[in-house]
Amino acid sequence: MTDPISLPVLRSDTPKEKCGVFGIWGGPEPTVITYLGLYAQQHRGQESAGICVTNGKRLQAHTGMGLVAEVFDQRTLSDLERFASNSPTHKEGAGGNVHSLGADGRVHSSGAVGSLPSASVTPSTQPTNGTHPTHTSPARPTSGHGAIGHNRYSTAGGSVSCNAQPLLESFVGGQVAIAHNGNLINADLYRARFEQAGHLFHTTSDTEVIIHLLASPAQQMAVDPVAATLRHLQGAFSLVLLFPDRIEAARDPWGWRPLVIGKLDDGRFVVASETVALDVIGAEFVREVEPGEIVTLNDAGLSIRRFSEPAPRLAHCIFEHVYFANPSSNVFGQNVQMVREALGERLAIEAPVDVDYVMPMPDSGRSAAAGYARQSGFPYREGIVPNRYVGRTFIKPTQAERSAAVRLKLNVIREMVKGRRIVVVDDSIVRGTTTQVKMNQLREAGAKEIHLRISCPPIRHPCYFGVDFAHRDQLIAHNKTEDEIRDFLGVDSLHFLSMEGLLSCVNRHKQDYCTACYSGDYRLDPAHPITDELATSQMTMF
Ligand code: SF4
Repeated sequence: MTDPISLPVLRSDTPKEKCGVFGIWGGPEPTVITYLGLYAQQHRGQESAGICVTNGKRLQAHTGMGLVAEVFDQRTLSDLERFASNSPTHKEGAGGNVHSLGADGRVHSSGAVGSLPSASVTPSTQPTNGTHPTHTSPARPTSGHGAIGHNRYSTAGGSVSCNAQPLLESFVGGQVAIAHNGNLINADLYRARFEQAGHLFHTTSDTEVIIHLLASPAQQMAVDPVAATLRHLQGAFSLVLLFPDRIEAARDPWGWRPLVIGKLDDGRFVVASETVALDVIGAEFVREVEPGEIVTLNDAGLSIRRFSEPAPRLAHCIFEHVYFANPSSNVFGQNVQMVREALGERLAIEAPVDVDYVMPMPDSGRSAAAGYARQSGFPYREGIVPNRYVGRTFIKPTQAERSAAVRLKLNVIREMVKGRRIVVVDDSIVRGTTTQVKMNQLREAGAKEIHLRISCPPIRHPCYFGVDFAHRDQLIAHNKTEDEIRDFLGVDSLHFLSMEGLLSCVNRHKQDYCTACYSGDYRLDPAHPITDELATSQMTMF
């Protein structure tokens, strides 16, 4: 009998990101709205999902491994909804972990594996909301409850249930739950320091150090403990924190990952990683959370303050536009689909070729292929089709069986390919193994010429800011020339979009995008992360 392997192994050529976050303050049905917000952002993480709610005094969370629809059912959602409506229940939900604060003042956990250990709690002395509000808008009256949620794909800490977020903890300031998109490069330094001081960690995730920092006396004695905590973090973080009386959402000073504010017709505010979540719940886009800002959602409405000035050079992840974000989302001020089509148009200008068909690699190459076809004037045909019924796991431990699994996942339409000259458009190549199998399949189906066009530059460097690009040695472009990659893939010609071409398709200042996985130009040095110095040297505002 063979062991099941997970889809991430089969799809090792596909980059993964952690994660998607969502938050809403006020009833009715904050849990259901959060569920929909997570569902809309499922593409940002498929390993685990979770929702944490407050009834105004206490928090309760349900987390589990798998897709949103696998982690939550009607009963778990109803349990959370009842709790948030001031009728707390402490029942175990199906397929996940429930964490709640019991009458004895300790966190209790239930669920199969990975539940949080108990933690002592003292009466709540919540941190203040800060002293620099820049905008307030009254929300509709609420019963004082709200919810946050998280979709996870691990890039730090591993795929285990104890890392499923939101992480719910109790500390001297009360309770807090945290949902994090991004990756902290100085988390290991802090973790080692805390562990030497006797702190116990419940997860292997970088996110947990944020809670330990928040709980530390230095931060608890600060005027604004949340702001003081965030000033210690180095790296990428779009965060949503839930306290019993409010949500605090924050974005790192570099703006690596997106985070937006929305507003429902009834006046309730929400925050989400992507605008597609706002569209799904019927919320209007208000604006992005700016780099270095904290947004508070509570019964008074919405208020905004800064914990830092924006970094001198921002670092919006350009790969959000190339691959990650949902095409219908607006990210960093631009619609993703429009950017991807523009990348395809630019690709056709940079690397024209005489062909019969323009063919997308599904689903990742569709938008760029549409742009390439429009610009080149050659017909767009879908000759590689995905098998939508291939599940998330597959029993295939050998390389040959994995190749078969790739063929099962994507099928070639022989009649459309045989004897044709084809230009195949995809968004990126990481390891190249999946692409190689697909090109072989096209050749076996009788393609006369195969020309491969990639709508971003070669990925030559790892990402330390929330994308699980393979180790440098596993990146096909790290130590191969374009000609060598072409030969490895077995295609007649190959062209990667130039950096100039990539940056010509985005609207903000070119220097405000992170392109480190292509260029090696890291905004922060991952080999030399810093800790306390951040609070005084980089964060000049306080
Ligand atoms: Fe995005 Fe690449 Fe920068 Fe990582 S290194 S944040 S994937 S642009």
